[in-house]
Amino acid sequence: MSPSPRPLLACVEVGGGGIQTVLLDGPAAEVLPGAHRPAGAALLIAVPGLITGSRVLAASNLGWYDVDPAEQLGLAGPAGLVLNDAEAAALGESALRGGTDLTYVGLGTGVGGATIADGVITGANLLGHGGSFGDRSCPCGRTGCLETVAGGWALPDPVTRYEDVATAIATAVRDEPLATAALVVVAGGLSRRHPGLVQAVAGALPDRLVEASAAPAGAKSAAAWGLAAAWDRVAEAVA
Ligand SMILES: [Zn+2]
Repeated sequence: MSPSPRPLLACVEVGGGGIQTVLLDGPAAEVLPGAHRPAGAALLIAVPGLITGSRVLAASNLGWYDVDPAEQLGLAGPAGLVLNDAEAAALGESALRGGTDLTYVGLGTGVGGATIADGVITGANLLGHGGSFGDRSCPCGRTGCLETVAGGWALPDPVTRYEDVATAIATAVRDEPLATAALVVVAGGLSRRHPGLVQAVAGALPDRLVEASAAPAGAKSAAAWGLAAAWDRVAEAVA
């Protein structure tokens, strides 16, 4: 039996700053504001929170605790797949580069880190809540987390001292045993608004290749492509 063709994928990315849907039809992508599930499309969701199966156990930025995300979004469920947003974005950066191994650094309100090897997530919830970067307390309860010097909530707006932020990120990457990939992708809303930050991280990590997100213009992140890659992997396993 030949594999059935991939359906239209409605990839919904939920963030503190808004919701975006990327419709993936083969290689074609259409970016829409808000949450959408066209008839016949498979629903895939990325959420900044702790996921188990197709439920969101906790997404504190959204006030979601043990919920069905499709229901919260007012869409017909259940979702075919739900992933943490940083993990989906990290998978997507790899998928958009043909499956490259990489370390993902997501700079937004918080700092999300993940590692990808051979197309799968090998480390999650990395970087943001570790390290000893000063004496500022973090909402997580620790003191001196990377987030207290590199998270959007902790930085002045506009961000001015790129070098200080970049040095801290470079230290966190070097100190993370799982973050050994040659490629480091610096993505997220903060890096989009401040492209100089990516260059500063490149300067602070001269032994690595440091790149900005490969997500197409208009998409908030590569999460949709990560959801699609994870979906393909599940479909392959079932076939
Ligand atoms: Zn913390």
